[in-house]
Amino acid sequence: MSAARSVVVMSAARSVVVMSAARSVVVVGASLAGFSLVRTLREHGHEGSITVVGDEPHPPYDRPPLSKEFLREDVDIALSDESATEASWLLGRRAVGITTTAAGPGVTLDDGTQLAGDSLVLATGARARTLPGLGSLRGVHTLRTVDDAHAIRHSLRTARTLVVVGAGLIGSEIASTAAAIGIAVTIVELCPDPLTAVFGPHIGPLCAAMHDPHGVRLLTGVAIDRFLGDEHVNAVQLTDGTVLSADAVVIGIGAVPNTEWAEDSDLHIDNGFVTDSQCRTSLPGIYAIGDCARSYDEATGVHHRSEHWTNATVQARIAAAAILGAPQRPTAAPYFWSRQYGRMLQFAGNCRPTDEVRFVDGDPSTPSLTALYERDGAPVAVFAIDNPRLFTRYRKHIERLTPIPTS
Ligand code: FAD
Repeated sequence: MSAARSVVVMSAARSVVVMSAARSVVVVGASLAGFSLVRTLREHGHEGSITVVGDEPHPPYDRPPLSKEFLREDVDIALSDESATEASWLLGRRAVGITTTAAGPGVTLDDGTQLAGDSLVLATGARARTLPGLGSLRGVHTLRTVDDAHAIRHSLRTARTLVVVGAGLIGSEIASTAAAIGIAVTIVELCPDPLTAVFGPHIGPLCAAMHDPHGVRLLTGVAIDRFLGDEHVNAVQLTDGTVLSADAVVIGIGAVPNTEWAEDSDLHIDNGFVTDSQCRTSLPGIYAIGDCARSYDEATGVHHRSEHWTNATVQARIAAAAILGAPQRPTAAPYFWSRQYGRMLQFAGNCRPTDEVRFVDGDPSTPSLTALYERDGAPVAVFAIDNPRLFTRYRKHIERLTPIPTS
C-alpha cells in the first residue's frame, strides 16, 4: 500500500493533528453504510487511518428492528465488531460543509474542526419525511432513530388507538407491531393503491391486504387534514371529514436524503449525492454510499437511490474496493425484506408495472408463496412470503441472468 497524505485534523484553535502516515479515509455518517465501509476496508488490509464523524450521540446501530420488535422491548441493535475499534469515531459531531484543499477532500464540523484525508466517503443516510404545517402536538411521531423508537414505544405503552400515516413498508411494520400489542390501528394512505409502486400491480395489493385479517383498518385515497388535541394529540381529521380517535400518531411517509449540509460544494446533488456505479461522486476522491447516494445502476441504465439495508452494505464494499484501487462491478440484484404480522416478505430484482407475475410456489391464499416477475419470458425479480429457500434460489438465478453491459 502506498504511503500518501494523512488525515489532518485542524481544530477551531488551529492545532493540527496528523493521524496516520498511510492513506487515510474520512467518513461522514456513523451508521450502517459508514460502519460497513470501515469493516470492509479493514478486512481488505487497509492500514491507513479512518475517521468517522456521526451527528447522533450513539455508536452505530441497526435500524430495521426499530419498526418491529424494538417498539415492544429492548433488543440488541448495536453494530459492532473488531473493525470498529480500528477507527476514530467522532460522535455527536455534525459535518456542515465539504472542503477541497491541498490536504485532500474533507469536511468542516459544526465546532469548526476541519478533517481531510485521501478519500472522503459520504454516508449521511436519510431522515424521516414530515407533514409540514400540522403543528407539534405531543404523541405525533416520525421514526428514523433509536430515540424516535423509544418515544414511540413510550406512547404505545398507554395508547389504545394509533393512526399510522402512510402504508409503505415502515408504516405497515409499525401497524403490525402495534396491533400485536393490542392497540386499535388505522392506517391512512394518500395513494389509492399502496405498495404498488414497490411491488407492482399484482403483488402490491396482496401486501396491502395483509392488514385486514389482523384487525388493522387501511383507509386509502385520503389525506390528513389536521391533528386534533390541546397539547397531546387525541384525534386525526381526514380531508373527507372523517375523524379518527388517536392516542398516538406515527407518520411513515418516506425519507429525505441528508445532503443539504454539502450543498455549498460543487458536488452534483439531485435527490441524493449523484454517483457512478463505483460510488464515485462528481468530485475526485469523494464517494457516497447508502441511503444518501443516487448511484448509476448498470443493469437498468438509470440512477437510483435505494433506502434498503443490503444496498448500504453492498455500496460500502464497492466504495472500499474503489478506494483500495481494485474497483469491483456491482453484481447483486437489489434486495430487501420486511417483517409484518409474523411473516417474512422478501424481494429481489427490478420490477416494472408491465411485468408478468407467476406464482411458482403457493398463491395468495396459502401461508407461504413465491412469485416470479417475468419480462420477455425471462425472470427479472422475485417476491416471497415465508419461503426463504426458494426465494434465495430464484434470487441467485436472477443475479446470474441480470444483463450487465460489458463496456
Ligand atoms: P442511515 O442509517 O440513515 O445513517 C446515516 C447517519 O448519518 C445517521 O446517523 C445520521 O444521523 C448521520 N448524519 C446525517 N447527516 C450528518 C452530518 N451532516 N454529519 C454527521 N452525521 C450525519 N431496510 C431493509 O432492507 N429491511 C428492513 O426491514 C428495514 N427496516 C427499516 C426500519 C426502519 C425504522 C428504518 C428507519 C429503516 C429500515 N430499513 C430497512 C432501511 C435501512 O435501515 C437503511 O437503508 C440503512 O439504515 C441505511 O444506512 P445508511 O448508513 O446509509 O443511513
